Amino acid sequence: MNGWISAGRAAAALLRGRVPGQLVIQLTDRCNARCPQCGMRVTEGFDRSRLSMDEVRRLIDAAAEKGVQALSFTGGEPMMLFDDLAVLIRYAGAAGIPYIRTGTNGYFFMNRHRPGFRSRIARIVETLADTPIRNFWISVDSAVPHVHEAMRGFPGLVEGIRASLPLFHDAGIYPSLNLGINRNISEATMAIGPTAGDADPAADLDAFYERFRTGFRDFYRFAVEMGFTIVNSCYPMSIDEGDADEGDLSAVYAASAVDPVIRFSGAEKVQLFRALFDAIPEFRSQLRIFSPRTSVYTLCRQYEAAAPAPYPCRGGVDFFFVNAADGNTYPCGYRGDENLGKFWDLDLADRRNGTACTACDWECFRDPSELFGPVLEGISHPASLVRRLRKDATWRALWREDLRYYRACGYFNGREAPDYDRMRHF
Ligand code: SF4
Ligand code: SF4
Repeated sequence: MNGWISAGRAAAALLRGRVPGQLVIQLTDRCNARCPQCGMRVTEGFDRSRLSMDEVRRLIDAAAEKGVQALSFTGGEPMMLFDDLAVLIRYAGAAGIPYIRTGTNGYFFMNRHRPGFRSRIARIVETLADTPIRNFWISVDSAVPHVHEAMRGFPGLVEGIRASLPLFHDAGIYPSLNLGINRNISEATMAIGPTAGDADPAADLDAFYERFRTGFRDFYRFAVEMGFTIVNSCYPMSIDEGDADEGDLSAVYAASAVDPVIRFSGAEKVQLFRALFDAIPEFRSQLRIFSPRTSVYTLCRQYEAAAPAPYPCRGGVDFFFVNAADGNTYPCGYRGDENLGKFWDLDLADRRNGTACTACDWECFRDPSELFGPVLEGISHPASLVRRLRKDATWRALWREDLRYYRACGYFNGREAPDYDRMRHF
C-alpha cells in the first residue's frame, strides 16, 4: 500500500514538473574516523555541532508537509547518535516519508573477538529492524581490508562487518556497501600511486582505465564475498574551492577534501567513469548495483565535453541539504554560499527555476536527477525528448535498461532480499 501511495505522489510531482523531493539532513558533523578524503575526520580541529531533536522533528514535519519522499540522515557519523537516530527514523516514518536512509562508517563492527560484540550488534540490528528504515549503508573505501581499516583508523573492521551481515539479513535488513571512490579501492588502483592531482598522466590513461576496471571488479567481488547484496558508488568529491574546473563551489558539507587519494583530473575522471561503466554489467546479476549506467555514461561524456549533456542536477530545486552547524538549508552540500534559511520557511514553488547545475558529481543528487530527467523532459518538452532519444541510441538503450534493472532489483529496497531470478537477466 505504501508503495502505491509513494508511486502516486511521485507521479503527481512529475506532472507538476518536479522530481520527488529529497532532503539530506546532516545530523552531526562529529565523526570518530580518520578518512584522509574527508574534512570531518576526527583529527580536524573545528567546533563540532549536532542538530537538536526538536529542530530535526520540525524539519521532518516540514519535509512531510512539502511532499518530500526521500530523507537521508547523514553525518559525520550518525550512528554516534544512535538512540536519537532511531527515534527520528520512526518519527519520519510516522510522518509518511517512505524512503528513509542512514548509514555508518562501521566503527561499532570493531573488536569482533571481544566480549559483548554479538550483543552490541544484535541490539543495533533489533533497534533498526523496529524502525521504517529502508536503506542502511556501510561505507567502505577499499577491497583491501587493511587499507580500508588504516584509512578509517578502525582495525579489525572488515571481519566484524562480515560476521554481522547475517544478523542484519536475518532481521530483514540488507545493508548497502557504499564505496567512496578513491585511489585505494584495490591493489590494482593503489599501484597507480597518488599524483599531484592537476597533472594529466595522458601517456598512461589506458593503463589507468585498466587498473580501475580491475579495481571495480575487485571491489564488486569483495562485496559478493562479504555477503552484501546492494552496492553503491559515491563518485569522488574533491572540491578545490575557487578551482575553475569546479565553478565557484564552496562546500558546507565537509565530506570532501583535496587529499591526493580523492583527487582526479578531468582526463582521469573520463577513464574512471568508463571503467565503472564497463565493470557494472559483469556483476548486475549478483549484486543490486545502485549506480545507474546512464548517469555514469553522461558523467563520462561531461568530462569529455561531448554530447549528450547530463540533465541538470535537482539540487536547490527538489533536493536540499540541511547543515548541522547552522541548521540552515542549502541547495546541496557543495553550494555553501547559497544559504536558503530554515527548511520550514522555504517555499518550494520559488525554487522551481533554480540554477541548472552540473558543477560536481555528488551521486546522491546527480544519479536521481539523471534518471528522472527524461521523464520530466517528456512531460514538459516531449519533442526535445524525442530528439534526444533519436540522437543517441546508446543513451536510449542505457536508460531503458537501467529502468528494467531497477525494477528487477525491487528499486533497491533494503528491507527485501534480492530476487536473483529476476536479476539473472542482466
Ligand atoms: S568520510 Fe565519513 S567516516 Fe570518514 S571521516 Fe568523513 S564523515 Fe567520518
Ligand atoms: S551538481 Fe548538484 S550536488 Fe553538485 S554542486 Fe550542483 S546542485 Fe550541488
